[in-house]
Amino acid sequence: MRVAVETLGCRVNIYDSEAMMELFKRDGFEVVEFGDKADVYVINTCTVTNRGDKKSRQHIHRAKRQNPDAVVAVVGCYSQVNKDEVASIEGVDIVLGSRNKSEIVFYVNKAIAERKQVVHVSENIMLGARFEDLSIKGYEGKTRAFMKIQDGCNRFCSYCIIPYARGGVSSKEKDKVIEEVRLLASEGFKEIILSGIHIASYGQDFREAYGLIDLLEEIDGIDGIERVRIGSVEPMFFRGEAMERVLGLRKLCPHFHLSLQSGSEATLKRMNRRYTPEEYLDVVLKLRDRLPGASITTDVIVGFPQETDEEFKETMEFLGKVKLDKIHTFKYSERKGTPAARMTGKVDPKTKDERSSLIMDLSDKLEEKHVSGIVGNRVKVLFEEGKDGVYYGYTPEYIRVRTESQEDLEGLIRSVLITGSVKDTAFGELEDE
Ligand code: SF4
Repeated sequence: MRVAVETLGCRVNIYDSEAMMELFKRDGFEVVEFGDKADVYVINTCTVTNRGDKKSRQHIHRAKRQNPDAVVAVVGCYSQVNKDEVASIEGVDIVLGSRNKSEIVFYVNKAIAERKQVVHVSENIMLGARFEDLSIKGYEGKTRAFMKIQDGCNRFCSYCIIPYARGGVSSKEKDKVIEEVRLLASEGFKEIILSGIHIASYGQDFREAYGLIDLLEEIDGIDGIERVRIGSVEPMFFRGEAMERVLGLRKLCPHFHLSLQSGSEATLKRMNRRYTPEEYLDVVLKLRDRLPGASITTDVIVGFPQETDEEFKETMEFLGKVKLDKIHTFKYSERKGTPAARMTGKVDPKTKDERSSLIMDLSDKLEEKHVSGIVGNRVKVLFEEGKDGVYYGYTPEYIRVRTESQEDLEGLIRSVLITGSVKDTAFGELEDE
């Protein structure tokens, strides 16, 4: 039997899909591309924006067009939040929630045998949801290993559907994380990326006091791993003792993605974000002071309900002051069921476009300045891909570097003397080892 898996949304979803593909392989399925004719199509959905829902439906119809007899399984966040809507879409055979992905093979075989629709979506994922341990065993051909260590979120930012789609915080057992990191080190992986939905909450569901910083310190001691990265992390994670302990880590890459969302205190309050612009600035200045050269990037939402010209001006002034290295910009997308969806004062699409392009222009300038700032430096690059003697990889600060070599550099960490840069990519000469 041939199965094809399409993934929408975030890195955690990519991880979940890889793990589901492994479960199918172990059950004797052949994994094919989504564009190929398959007996089973799995769409691992996203519902973080309206566009996510729309794309999920488009892939359902595409699957049915490619093979009208195929079993179509719609799993993940869109199914979790809208199970009845998904179940009513013609051609959908299986509807699985965001905490039921490890049961995918069982439900596919059940649907094939019984030829009737199956809907299995756990209701109570908010409280005491257990971590669904979907593990990837094979990282063939990869130089960096993503590891999902946490799922769910308890923050309830007023615009965000994720707590309703992914449920409450749940964490992968620390011993399992350590065991997998050791295994990856023994397989020659140099870099690990710890990811989750809200990784700063890692361990909050454990009985004993054990958090992300404790885990990072344990991984720091594992031989073979040279680089550890963390995905997007709560800005206020870097306060007090945690900041000192982070600075004590030898292998943590100095690239921090600290979601800001707005530079206006009033907007942040309506977003139910738990910091002020000043507190955010304080964290950034401390990181800059103790880790010069670190990359600090962020996300900003424009057009949040009631965001006035004055508030947006505050955001632009704050971004001018805080001087980050790259800003990912998102136009506010109303999500049914979130508090923000019930707010008055919607911002019109034209204004959202204008605000978004102003921030994107600023971000391009900031990134170009950041990347050109390493010209003349010798930097360590983990090379990921190469073709015809041209190789690309990333520095610990997550700056993209291009170099030329007759040697196969994939998976190697090598020193490069940077001689120039264009936009988001630096380039240079490979140094002899
Ligand atoms: S921290 Fe806020 S924005 Fe991030 S996943 Fe949780 S609720 Fe959503």
